[in-house]
Amino acid sequence: MTLDLLGKSRDQLRKWATGLGEPAYRGDQLYHSFYVERRFDIERMTALPAPLRRRLTAEASIQLPHIIRRYASADGSVRYLLALPAAGESPNSAAKAPLGATATIETVFMPSEGRQTICISTQAGCAVNCRFCLTATLGLIRNLTAGEIVGQLLLALSENSDHLAPRTNVVFMGQGEPLLNYEPTLAATRILLDPHGLGLAPRHVTISTSGILPGIERLAAEPVRPKLAISLNASSDEQRSRLMPINRKYPLAGLLDACRRYPLRSWELLTFEYVLLGGFNDRPEDARRAARLLSGLRAKVNLIPWNPGELPYHMPEPEAVEEFRRILSERQVPVFIRYSRGRDVMAACGQLALIEQTPMAAAQTPVAAPGRLETP
Ligand code: SF4
Repeated sequence: MTLDLLGKSRDQLRKWATGLGEPAYRGDQLYHSFYVERRFDIERMTALPAPLRRRLTAEASIQLPHIIRRYASADGSVRYLLALPAAGESPNSAAKAPLGATATIETVFMPSEGRQTICISTQAGCAVNCRFCLTATLGLIRNLTAGEIVGQLLLALSENSDHLAPRTNVVFMGQGEPLLNYEPTLAATRILLDPHGLGLAPRHVTISTSGILPGIERLAAEPVRPKLAISLNASSDEQRSRLMPINRKYPLAGLLDACRRYPLRSWELLTFEYVLLGGFNDRPEDARRAARLLSGLRAKVNLIPWNPGELPYHMPEPEAVEEFRRILSERQVPVFIRYSRGRDVMAACGQLALIEQTPMAAAQTPVAAPGRLETP
């Protein structure tokens, strides 16, 4: 089995190079090729001596995910259905498939004025079982490696390289619960935020969690970390546990306490995502309770009107969405209404479930269009 170089840190590549009897800076050169130049063909890395290139070709690989299909939304978003080759890592007993098995995931590219937002997956499927999310119906298939996580971003950037906007936002809101695949997610994040890597600013990268308390506490202690978003979706434990069974394990009091202790940087706010489900959690009393829960927190709320899917919920009435917003705002909670991108191609929040519909083009044809919840 060859070693996949993607997702390895600069230090790991330097050590790997010295293990081959090469100077450590060869590792820097590889890292620079992948993340600054975004070149993945070893043969064309002419800064490396030919014998090393031959050895790399034989002993290592750089595997980007393979595009199975592209789905283009009328709003310009694109949902990519991606195949991950077997990664050759140790098995994970919690998943339906071992870590190294092939898997299918989704990534969404959303262009807008001056920026693109790329939504990436950290697991194939998900075990958390949120009742409003189609991904939950897949169950957990397997965890992704750091290379598979960062590879989604590299692929989306290279697919759209001829019309990229100056700024890239990345949201870990695709398939999976990032904090239940902690190490690979953070290893990928460090590459994203590394000035010698992809060089994204922490304020442009967001990890979204269903509220995995130990993961939030671990993230709080990280020297390099992105922004944090928490999927709230309810205004009481009873309501949240019905929607998100994970709430029984990590109830609201402990979760919000961890949020109060979270070490925010001067420019940073926590984000609470609140999917509005018509008639379930979108009433004025829900808004008032949510405002009370969040009082005293440096936080903003994104209200996300429910995206229709094959689940027994319905979209909230526009008047209910506006009233919810008004009540939070009146109580000094910064609040935004976010309409998901890519609804028509099942790319919106809670819709990623490998659904195959309306392929926009054959797998080989790049698309000149930019799709899921984008960040401002
Ligand atoms: S909302 Fe996120 S954490 Fe919940 S089931 Fe869907 S993918 Fe998993």
